[in-house]
Amino acid sequence: MNPGRIDLHVHTTASDGTLTPAETVREAVARGVRLLGITDHDCTDGIPEALDAAEELEITLVPGVELSVGSDETEVHVLAYFMDIADAALQEALAKLRGARDVRNERILARLRELGARLDMARVRQIAGDGSVGRPHIAKALVEAGHVSSEGAAFRRYLARGKPAYVGRERLGPAEASNLIRDTGGIPVLAHPAKIGPRLAIEGIIDQGMAGVEVFHSDHDAKDVELLMKIARERGLLITGGTDSHGPHSDRPRLIGSLDIPEWVGEELLARAPRCWTEQR
Ligand SMILES: [Zn+2]
Ligand SMILES: [Zn+2]
Repeated sequence: MNPGRIDLHVHTTASDGTLTPAETVREAVARGVRLLGITDHDCTDGIPEALDAAEELEITLVPGVELSVGSDETEVHVLAYFMDIADAALQEALAKLRGARDVRNERILARLRELGARLDMARVRQIAGDGSVGRPHIAKALVEAGHVSSEGAAFRRYLARGKPAYVGRERLGPAEASNLIRDTGGIPVLAHPAKIGPRLAIEGIIDQGMAGVEVFHSDHDAKDVELLMKIARERGLLITGGTDSHGPHSDRPRLIGSLDIPEWVGEELLARAPRCWTEQR
C-alpha cells in the first residue's frame, strides 16, 4: 500500500555509512520513509543527532544498533532496537566489539614477527582499502612480502585456527548478545539470516534468545522471505525489515526505503516499544 515507507536497517557515518545521521534522516524523509531505524555497526553515536533531526522533520526514528557477534567461521549480525543507549554495560560491550578487530590484527602481526614474517600494519591497511582489516588482507600482505607463495598457504601455515599466528577473536556469542540487549531494554533481532546458511543453522541462532527475525532485507529473495516468515510465525517472533543502506556513495548503494515492507511490520515493532520511549513521544 505504502511501499518504501519503512526502513529499519540503515547505516550512517557513525559506522561505515556515507551519510551523516542528520543527512540520513533527511534522505529518508525525501524518499517517503515514515519509520526509520538507525542501526550502525557496534556503535550508537549517531542516534542523538538522528533523533534531533527526526523530531524536526516529523519522522519516527527507532534507535538501533547492529552487533557483530559469533566466531570467525560463523559471524552473525544481531540488530537491537530500543535499547537504552545510555546504559554503561551496553556501551562497554560496544567499545569492546569495536576494538576487537584492531587488537586482534596487532596480535596476529606480533606473532608473525616472532615467527620471522614481518609485516607492516600500514601496508595491510592499504590492502584492506575502505574495508575493515582482517585475516584475508594479512594473507595478501604475506604473499606480497614473499613470506608465502599464496594466500591459501598463508592460512595453512600461519593464519588458520590452530596455526602459530592464529589469534581467536574475543567476542560475544549470540546468546550473550541477546541477553545484553534485553538487559538494556532492547529487542534482539537476527539480521539478514539468509546469509547464515541452511534453515537448521538459522534456527540454532534464533534459539539463542532472539526476539525477532529480519525477514525483509535487500539480499533476501522471495524464497528467503517465505522461509524466514514461516520460521518467525512458528515461533511467535517479531518480523522486521530494512534495506541495510550504507548511503548513496557506498560500494553497494541501496537506497533508503527502497524495499517494499508491509506497514504491519512497523506497527508491530512500535507496539513492542518500551513505555519510556512511547511516553517521550
Ligand atoms: Zn549486517
Ligand atoms: Zn547492516
